[in-house]
Amino acid sequence: MKVLFASAEVYPLAKVGGLGDVAGSLPRALRSLGHDVRIVMPKYGTVSPPAKDLGTFAVGIGGADHEAKLTLSSLDGVPVYLVDFSPLFDRPKVYEYPDDGQRFAFFGRAVLDMLPASGFWPDVLHCNDWHTALAPAFLRESPPADERYRRIRCVLTIHNLQHQGLFAKDLFEWTGLPPAAWNPEGVEFYGQLNFLKAGIVYADRVNTVSPTYSKEIQTPEYGYGLDGLLRSRASKLSGILNGIDYKVWNPAKDSHLAQKYSKTSLEKKAKNKAALQKEAGLAAESKIPLLGMVSRVTEQKGFDILIPAIPDLLNLGVQLVLLGTGEKAYEEPLGRFANAQKGFVAYLKYDETLAHRIYAGSDFFLMPSKFEPCGLGQEISLRYGSVPIVRGTGGLVDTVIDVTADPRNGNGFAFSDFRASALLDAVGRAVAFYRAGRGWKRLQQRAMAQDLSWGASASRYADLYEQAARGTGP
Ligand code: ADP
Repeated sequence: MKVLFASAEVYPLAKVGGLGDVAGSLPRALRSLGHDVRIVMPKYGTVSPPAKDLGTFAVGIGGADHEAKLTLSSLDGVPVYLVDFSPLFDRPKVYEYPDDGQRFAFFGRAVLDMLPASGFWPDVLHCNDWHTALAPAFLRESPPADERYRRIRCVLTIHNLQHQGLFAKDLFEWTGLPPAAWNPEGVEFYGQLNFLKAGIVYADRVNTVSPTYSKEIQTPEYGYGLDGLLRSRASKLSGILNGIDYKVWNPAKDSHLAQKYSKTSLEKKAKNKAALQKEAGLAAESKIPLLGMVSRVTEQKGFDILIPAIPDLLNLGVQLVLLGTGEKAYEEPLGRFANAQKGFVAYLKYDETLAHRIYAGSDFFLMPSKFEPCGLGQEISLRYGSVPIVRGTGGLVDTVIDVTADPRNGNGFAFSDFRASALLDAVGRAVAFYRAGRGWKRLQQRAMAQDLSWGASASRYADLYEQAARGTGP
């Protein structure tokens, strides 16, 4: 299979969240299965790997042809095409600009218009999230004349349904899509242009990043207004669990750690806990259960139930180290509650290496998400033997088994109700288990033994590409 993987984020070149992790690891896993997968991403101001010049090409949008440059780089053997158009992409951040609509409409168009310059004609164009979801609409509604475009099939992966890319109608006019596409069966969503909806309507196959989330988004509670559309497209919708990059996340080889360890040398993990306690200015007590969190600080991640629970949580005699950044409305009370003496430290920033130290230094990893398409935090923490305490939603259901309910197979603690009291109850159970000591090491070893690599999931993506190309399945 020849696959062009289009993403706004690709780790380590650009990462904001889980999308970057996936784009940085899934293509490599697919290549090791023998598929010719190549990545395309915008060339941001911060992205300047060594790259070969492939010349210029014209991006036809906004009633004009814009000259963009195409270069070819490589990540661990995966070819990466970089779309270089400085007026829109030569900026320090990936998102959060007032013209994001224009920027990613342009990128969606560029993904198609660059193919002649690249010389690579994929069987499947794999789009990810709203940023690239307009490409399937361009391909079906306003394809370039070249016959080879007609043979391309599209897969859209929804990494997060909450972010849909909603913009005013004038952006639709700027895209150059035909007026007929502006209707509720096309790209229109209550008078606005909806990028993600365009992808769902026009892609040949749509998937989410866990089986449970693919079902949840067909309900009003999780559907963000698109549940009806998703129910009507259920026959082309599926869920494939994300893997994690075993090269990046491996406690036995992680150079960011005070002490490397594996499931057969778990006792060495204690050194990482001591180092983290010291770094955070927490009491250096090996017996105090240490809860870690690495998370965007947003509504999705459960801060509405976590923040009111913090005083009671600390009363359970635990330490809590949070690394995260996001919405001011949550960062502000977290900053106020933070007090190393009382056991709570909040690093309100983005910091890759500190993330590694927290995954390794914690006994537990807390993830009380309101919704969770897949979640990588709990997968990474499992790999590091930090037992996850999660709200059972989306991908957390597919990866964490509650040990109270299933003592033989359990690898963590889960609660259902989105309430502070339910969160506290789960932490209480976890802490009691830890303090009792019986079975604790076995629980950590079971967590670390779980296969969270891309292996099986990469094969499922390969099947999905086949289905898209042949019009079979799902
Ligand atoms: P989402 O994609 O919704 O943010 P995931 O759990 O799927 O959540 O992925 C989050 C990824 O981003 C993980 O690799 C996590 O370690 C990382 N991450 C989140 N916040 C930070 C931060 N402040 N510093 C470093 N890494 C972070």
